[in-house]
Amino acid sequence: MDTSAYLRSHIRTVPDWPAPGVQFRDITPLLQDPKVFRVLIDTFVHRYMDPALRPDVVAGLDARGFIIGSVLAYELGVGFVPIRKKGKLPFTTVEETYELEYGSATVELHTDAVKAGDRVLLIDDLIATGGTMMAGRKLLEKLGAQVVEGAAIVDLPELGGSQRLTDSGLSLFTLVDFT
Ligand code: IMP
Repeated sequence: MDTSAYLRSHIRTVPDWPAPGVQFRDITPLLQDPKVFRVLIDTFVHRYMDPALRPDVVAGLDARGFIIGSVLAYELGVGFVPIRKKGKLPFTTVEETYELEYGSATVELHTDAVKAGDRVLLIDDLIATGGTMMAGRKLLEKLGAQVVEGAAIVDLPELGGSQRLTDSGLSLFTLVDFT
């Protein structure tokens, strides 16, 4: 079985959660199995050890981006910074608001989290509409950093997010598609 199929076989689909009609892709079984978790992290480490892609900083999106992003940063020997939902970060922040299907969401980043010119890897568990990753990218760019790539375990291509992100000029790396 190839890596993508192996990882995919450890992602659980929960129907009608958190709302009727939604098929939630749950990565907790993947994290729970040490062998699969290692394959996941090693796949990202292998890619981002490449000098052309090696970041100065890993930025993780709230909240599952913290789980994979922090381990990856540790393995790469670089720092980790969290991009959080509004109201969680204690120091001065920059913020970005984006539209959801119903309403909007705001994410924040500490103003000293990255420096101008830093090369940042932005990571989350999943890309759906792409709004969260786009907002994270804008926050990093407000501080003058450069997002070298956006990475996620899962892409839901039918929602168009990955296409929108790549159309906007962001390089993307994802491991498992669910259609
Ligand atoms: P987007 O902003 O529409 O791309 O949604 C992506 C964000 O919502 C990520 O932070 C995900 O963690 C979360 N998300 C949306 N759908 C799912 C899902 O099916 N499984 C896990 N996370 C999801």
